Amino acid sequence: MHGVNHMTIPIRKFDTLVIGAGGGGLRAALQLAQADANVAVVSKVFPTRSHTVAAQGGMNAALANVLPDNWHWHMYDTVKGGDFLGDQDAIEYMCHAAPRLVVELEHIGVPFSRLDNGKIYQRPFGGQSQNFGGAQAARTCAAADRTGHAILHALYQQNIRAKTHFFDEYFAIDLIKDDEGYILGALVLEIETGEPLIIQAKTTLIATGGAGQLFRTNTNARINTGDGMAMALRAGIPVQDMEFFQFHPTGIAGKGMLISEAVRGEGGYLVNGNGERFMERYAPNAKDLASRDVVSRAVATEIHEGRGCGVNKDHILLKVDHLGSEVIRKRLPGIRDMVMTFLNIDPIDAPIPIFPTAHYTMGGIPTNRFGQVVVPQQQGAEEPVPGLYAVGECACVSVHGANRLGGNSLLDIVVFGRAAGNHIIEYLKENRYSRVASQCSIDAAVAHLARWDQRGSPMGSGASSETVDGLRNELKAIMDHYCGVFRTEDVLRAGLDKMLKIEQRLQNVYLRDHSKVFNTARIEAFELENLVELALATVASALARRESRGAHMRMDHPQRDDVKWLKHSLFFKGGMLDYKPVRMKPLTVEGFSPKPRVY
Ligand SMILES: Cc1cc2nc3c(=O)[nH]c(=O)nc-3n(C[C@H](O)[C@H](O)[C@H](O)COP(=O)(O)OP(=O)(O)OC[C@H]3O[C@@H](n4cnc5c(N)ncnc54)[C@H](O)[C@@H]3O)c2cc1C
Repeated sequence: MHGVNHMTIPIRKFDTLVIGAGGGGLRAALQLAQADANVAVVSKVFPTRSHTVAAQGGMNAALANVLPDNWHWHMYDTVKGGDFLGDQDAIEYMCHAAPRLVVELEHIGVPFSRLDNGKIYQRPFGGQSQNFGGAQAARTCAAADRTGHAILHALYQQNIRAKTHFFDEYFAIDLIKDDEGYILGALVLEIETGEPLIIQAKTTLIATGGAGQLFRTNTNARINTGDGMAMALRAGIPVQDMEFFQFHPTGIAGKGMLISEAVRGEGGYLVNGNGERFMERYAPNAKDLASRDVVSRAVATEIHEGRGCGVNKDHILLKVDHLGSEVIRKRLPGIRDMVMTFLNIDPIDAPIPIFPTAHYTMGGIPTNRFGQVVVPQQQGAEEPVPGLYAVGECACVSVHGANRLGGNSLLDIVVFGRAAGNHIIEYLKENRYSRVASQCSIDAAVAHLARWDQRGSPMGSGASSETVDGLRNELKAIMDHYCGVFRTEDVLRAGLDKMLKIEQRLQNVYLRDHSKVFNTARIEAFELENLVELALATVASALARRESRGAHMRMDHPQRDDVKWLKHSLFFKGGMLDYKPVRMKPLTVEGFSPKPRVY
């Protein structure tokens, strides 16, 4: 496509545009389609390839099928797991809704694993307790170790039945708005043909998932480049709490793929090079099922202090062979497959080498519990951005605070996908007529699209040595090295300098001769731009926060500081940082005040 002329860009109109077909986007779309709204879902990959499909371990709900439980204990664990940074109204709402939504998923076709008495099976997961910090709970509902797969396929099928309109393999570039700031859909690109399309809608929901591709060693799909968060930044909306990135303790050593916490939930445990069960030292009660930030730091510390396993002492072993072949085959078949494929080890016979790996983006687009995107106003107040919603890993509602508990994300996407769907239905009743998109917002989106269109290298001259691949690999290496599990002022500052240079060098990237450029190369250039925005947000927010809380560990400020830092950070495009209070007041129960966090 040469020279985009927006006069010729076709326009399609819908009630709602959902950007992203993972569990969050599809749950919202289903709610809307069932209420007869005209819904478009765009996804850069075929919907059932969204990262939700990879979720292994399960989804939390206090069903009490295995051990005593109730939603209030679940709420406590979530607040504590997030190191008191989570917004307690949203956490109460989520934990309270969970049991009903698991049953609802079962009714639309999710084949949850069963107990002998026929009830839904539940396994213990990290950070779960009975009675506000007492004995281990068993709260995670699972379809073997393929829970996300089961949920995503059921939601997709139900959407097909409800006549949701899918735009498969379309890439969203930028939001468009009207002169009053109402968000009215997005400019998208059909990946196969390279043709642009404006999808205009009365409401827009961003559900584009996380940004695990910020790091070299990660558990995420190649597509998890945080596009929606970067789109929000370009539309003038800040991203919240980006310094909190979850490192999962058990990635396959040297590769990064996830070995689910379900393995420890089923009884697996970690041993160091001396054969010691070291988690007993770091978390005397919860041991291997302490919260993920705690276990990741313990693993990194053991290796750092010379107690790693293997000839290079560079990993830890996850012992599972004692569980027996029957448990492994029945409850962890997918993980066994993966370990056999990537390590040529059968976990029935031998332990699995692991190392911490970047896993989950706690930060994201700030929203309230209805999924409305909210931005700060004068005097600390917040206002919704009219017509704009966000749910799932791209959003920060914030139920996960400074550290997410395993099994709470599948819950998050289903709960807030549904809530956003319901809120949009009400919004559509009150806003029946289409608004007119502002020419200047369309022009800006089209100019952004054209930027990479015109970036073919001048014929024959090898004008620049910068490539998308090269810069992306450097970015990821910088993030691994300068913004990993353990952080300090000096290292973060050096990381920020390096990232600012990467941002500049992005201007020197040229795509190869146009006639030979596949659209996928252009898509990767857009994704790299998005990663650069988010890497800057992550490092700058981490540099500013001089305390240790949840996943953000500052060696130079090792304590949590509730006096100065019990607040959410907001990063704006261009580098400005602002802060806003944590919502400490739940809806119906008393709030949980910060106290020391031990497991
Ligand atoms: C390996 C792994 C295992 C996990 N296991 C668990 C678990 O057991 N329990 C749990 O609770 N959580 C788990 N999680 C986390 C959880 O799965 C995710 O947080 C959640 O599924 C995210 O859902 P989502 O709908 O927000 O986004 P995703 O499922 O990531 O979907 C994002 C969608 O956005 C689309 N998209 C993105 N950018 C664009 C663009 N520019 N244009 C068009 N479309 C776009 C993509 O095509 C995709 O459809 C796991 C995560 C991983 C990586």
